[in-house]
Amino acid sequence: MFLNELRASINTLKGAGSQTCQILARLGIADIAALLSYFPRDWEDRSHFVSLSQWNQERQVYTIARVLAHEWFGYPKKTLKVHIEDETGRAELICFNRPFLEKQLVVGKQYIISGQFSYRYGSLQSTNFEIENAEQARTSTEFPFLPIYPLSAGLSQKILRRLMYQALHIYGKNLEEELPEPVLKKYGLLSKSAALHAIHFPKSRDELEAAVRRIKFEELFYLEVLIGRRALERRQEYRRQEPALPSLGNSLSQGLSPLQQRLAERLPFKLTYGQLNAINEINHDMAGPHPMARLLQGDVGSGKTLVSFMAALRALEYGGQTAILAPTELLARQHAENAARLLEPLGLSVAFLTGNIKAAGRSALLKALAAGHIHIVIGTHALFSADVRYHKLRLVIIDEQHRFGVLQRSAIMAKGDHPDLLMMSATPIPRTLALTVFGDLDVSVIKDVPPGRKTVKTHLAKQSNEKKVYDFVRQELAAGHQAYFVYPLIEGDEGSSSSGNLKNAEAMAKRLASSIFPEYRVALVHSRLDEDEKRKTMTAFRAGDIHILVATSVVEVGVDVPNATCMVIEHAERFGLSALHQLRGRVGRGQAQSYCFLVYSDRLTEDGKQRLKVMLEYSDGFTIAEEDLKLRGPGHIAGTAQSGYINLGLADPVEDSALLEVVREEAFSILERDPGLLAPEHLVIRQVLERAPPFAQVVL
Ligand code: ADP
Ligand code: MG
Repeated sequence: MFLNELRASINTLKGAGSQTCQILARLGIADIAALLSYFPRDWEDRSHFVSLSQWNQERQVYTIARVLAHEWFGYPKKTLKVHIEDETGRAELICFNRPFLEKQLVVGKQYIISGQFSYRYGSLQSTNFEIENAEQARTSTEFPFLPIYPLSAGLSQKILRRLMYQALHIYGKNLEEELPEPVLKKYGLLSKSAALHAIHFPKSRDELEAAVRRIKFEELFYLEVLIGRRALERRQEYRRQEPALPSLGNSLSQGLSPLQQRLAERLPFKLTYGQLNAINEINHDMAGPHPMARLLQGDVGSGKTLVSFMAALRALEYGGQTAILAPTELLARQHAENAARLLEPLGLSVAFLTGNIKAAGRSALLKALAAGHIHIVIGTHALFSADVRYHKLRLVIIDEQHRFGVLQRSAIMAKGDHPDLLMMSATPIPRTLALTVFGDLDVSVIKDVPPGRKTVKTHLAKQSNEKKVYDFVRQELAAGHQAYFVYPLIEGDEGSSSSGNLKNAEAMAKRLASSIFPEYRVALVHSRLDEDEKRKTMTAFRAGDIHILVATSVVEVGVDVPNATCMVIEHAERFGLSALHQLRGRVGRGQAQSYCFLVYSDRLTEDGKQRLKVMLEYSDGFTIAEEDLKLRGPGHIAGTAQSGYINLGLADPVEDSALLEVVREEAFSILERDPGLLAPEHLVIRQVLERAPPFAQVVL
C-alpha cells in the first residue's frame, strides 16, 4: 500500500479516544495516512544536554533540574509557577492550563526539562516546556531526538508521539515505495518507509536530514510531474490547422513581421533589446503548431504594453482577433487610447469594452466584434461576459495577470478555439516561484528599461517633516513637471479609531489645493468616483492640465504619464512592498530625474520599517519581490495566494529552490523520455497519481 491509501481511522489506535480523535480531526487528521503525514515542526535533541545558563545559545534547553517550590499566581484563574534549579542556575516553569503538573512535579525531586526559556519580568521563564521523570529517562539512547508537533488545545506531545509511534509500528512497515527505483538510486534517497520512520523518530541528525531530503524530494517530484504533464497536454491536445505564414527569420532586426515593422517605424524611439527579444519569442510561438502559453515579465516601465501590441499585430496577420484584458477600467482605457493612437493608423480597428458602456453602443460593438470588424478589443472583465462573441479570437493578452483568478483566465480563453495566451506581469515573480507556479508556461523576461531613464531617487521623510517634501515638489512643479500624492484611505473614517490619525485622499486633495499648492491645479481620483469623472481627470492629467493628482492606490497599476516626476506616498508604511514598487514605477518614465517620497508616521512598526528600508535600498522589482518573499513568505506573493496554487508539506519552493531545480529536471526528463509513463520503472508514478494522489495540488 501507498501511504495515502492508509485510510484506517485513528480510533483503531490504542489510546485514541473519541475526544482525541475529534481534536485530531480539527487538525485535519482523520486517518492514518494524514497522521503519518503530520510532520514534526521540530525535534528535541536529547543527545546532549543544554543547561539553563545556555538558554540563549541553543534552540532548546535540555537539562536535569530539581523542583524547588510551587507557587500560584493570578486571579481569578490561578496559574501554577514551578521554581526549578539545575547545576547552572534557577528558572521558573509557568504552567498555563496545566494545574495537574502540581502533582507530577514533586518538590525535591529531579526531572528532565526541555523547553524554550527567556527572560521575562526579571527571571528566566518557560511556558513552553516538556518534562520527563529523570529516573525513567533512559529512553534517550533509544530516541535521541523526539518529535515536536504543532499542537492544538487538549492535545499533548506525549499523546501524539504515542499514537505516531504505534501507527508507524502497525502500518509503517510495509509501505510501498512511491518514487521510481532508479531515482532513489541516482540521488541516494531513503526508502519511503525508512524516511517516514526517521522523520518522526530519527536515530541521528544525519538520518533526520536524509529523511527530510527524501520527503521534500518526493513532494516536489509529484508537483513537477503534475506541472510537466500539464505542459505536455497543452502541447498535445491541439494542433493548429491553419497554414503557416512565411517565416520571419531569427535575427533581432529582421525578426519583425510586416505590420510590426510598420509600427516600429512609427515609434519615436527604438525598441529595446528586451522588447525585441520578447517579440521574437512570441512570433516564434505563434508560428508553432501549438497555442502559445507565455508569461512576459518585466519591471514597471519596461515597455510591456508595446510588446503586447506587437503580438496583436501578428495575430491580425494570422487573420485573428486579439482581446486585451486589464484589471482596472483606468488601465484598460489607457491601453485603448494608446492602441487607437498607435494601431489605427495601420488600419486596425480598436474597441474599448467595459461594464459601463451603455446599451446601444454596446450592442453595436458586440455585433462588430462577432462579425470580425473589430481587430483588437480592450477592456476589463466585461470581455468575457456571456454575450460577448468573437469572430476568431486568436490571441488573449492578460495584463497584470496576477490580478486575475484562474477561473477568469479560463473564461476568456474559452471565448476562442485554443487562442494563444500572453500573460504580463510587472509584479515580478521570483524565478524560483515562477518555476513552480508557472512551471508549464514559457517565460520571456525584459531585463532592460528604455535608455535614458534615470533611477527614481527615493527619500524617506517623517510625517513631521512633510513641509520639506512639499517644498521640493513645488520646485518640480515650477519646472513644469507633475506629481502624484497617494493616500491609504479615500475619506476620513470617524468610526474607526485606528484610522483617526490617517490622512485621506479627499481631505488632502482639498488641503493641497487650497493651502499648500494654491497656485497649481489639483484633482482627485479613487475607485468610488464614476468612470466618466475618472476618465476626464486622467485625460486632463495626461495632457498636463492638472498638475497634482491625488489618489489612492488606484493609480498603482499601469498608469503611464511620463511628465510626472514626483510620487509622494503618505503613510507609506501602510502599503505592501509590491504596491510601493508599483506606485514608485509611475514616475521615472521620461527623460527627467524623478523622485519618490515615502512619508511615514512617527509611530512605525518593525514590519513597516523593514519595507521602507527595502524600498530605499533596492529599485529593481525582482530584488524587491525576493525581499518581499523573505518578509512575508511565499503564500503572499501576488497571484499565488489567490490561486491557492500549491499545498506542500515539508518542502518550500523558495527555501528549497536548489532541490526544486534538481527535481524538476529529473521529473521533466522522465516525462520527455516516457510521456505516457509506460516503462516498468515508471509504473509507480502512474499508480501513485491514480491510487493515492499526493496532497500537493496545482491549481492554475
Ligand atoms: P510597463 O512594462 O510597466 O507596462 P509601459 O508599457 O507602460 O510599461 O511603458 C512605459 C513607457 O515607456 C510608455 O510611456 C512607453 O511609451 C514607453 N516606452 C516603451 N518602449 C520604449 C522604448 N523602447 N523606448 C522608450 N520608451 C519606451
Ligand atoms: Mg503595464
